Amino acid sequence: MSIKSNIEYVNELKGKAAEKSGRKAEDVLLVAVTKLHEPAEINEAIDAGITDIGENKVQEIMNKYDAVKPVRWHLIGHLQTNKVKYIIDKVCMIHSVDSLKLAKEINKRAEQHDLTMDILIQVNSALDENKFGITTEETDALISQIAEECPHVRIRGLMCIAPFEENTENARPYFAAVKKIYDKYAAQRTERVDFRYLSMGMTNDFEVAVEEGSNLIRVGTAIFGYRDYRKEEK
Ligand SMILES: *Cc1c(COP(=O)(O)O)cnc(C)c1O
Repeated sequence: MSIKSNIEYVNELKGKAAEKSGRKAEDVLLVAVTKLHEPAEINEAIDAGITDIGENKVQEIMNKYDAVKPVRWHLIGHLQTNKVKYIIDKVCMIHSVDSLKLAKEINKRAEQHDLTMDILIQVNSALDENKFGITTEETDALISQIAEECPHVRIRGLMCIAPFEENTENARPYFAAVKKIYDKYAAQRTERVDFRYLSMGMTNDFEVAVEEGSNLIRVGTAIFGYRDYRKEEK
């Protein structure tokens, strides 16, 4: 299967899932996750219509940035505060904010570049110890602290990584819990807390995530095939 036909297939499934939740295919943004894939493959995806790509490591963005055609870059993985400076002028949104400390560093670097950075708050609704993110209970406090203290940061929504489930039906409650918080903020938008994105769903579970209300899916394997993790050692 080619990258192009894989994208068509993901878009078709995305459209069906969107319809099930009363929306259209274009209401759900597909972010192609390009980690461990080469610029040539990424450019092929861009030629096939991909407008947004996601990387989980700062170093990979740095390595590929100049070789990839113009596209919107998303930082979707855990971000260390000391690396914010490298990507602040390269990405359109940071999906993985889970502390005031990180938000403050993003704010500081954004101010230096005279820009406002869009971020998502990463919520770990499954209380999965292996994943980053805050609990649903901590979400309100973090959002109000960031809104108060970080004028160069705009909170655009929430991100969630559900635990891997063989039967993806089991992931529904985790997505639904995050959607509930999302809806509360989407109903009372302000300039700095301007919810538009609910980033949920990967190759294994994006259909269920969209049915539960996700409007941004992060899909890698279904588009590019399996990743060669040996590349990480290079
Ligand atoms: C790798 C990754 C994805 C994509 O995973 P696939 O299963 O390959 O679709 C999505 N989100 C995050 C945060 C990731 O690190």
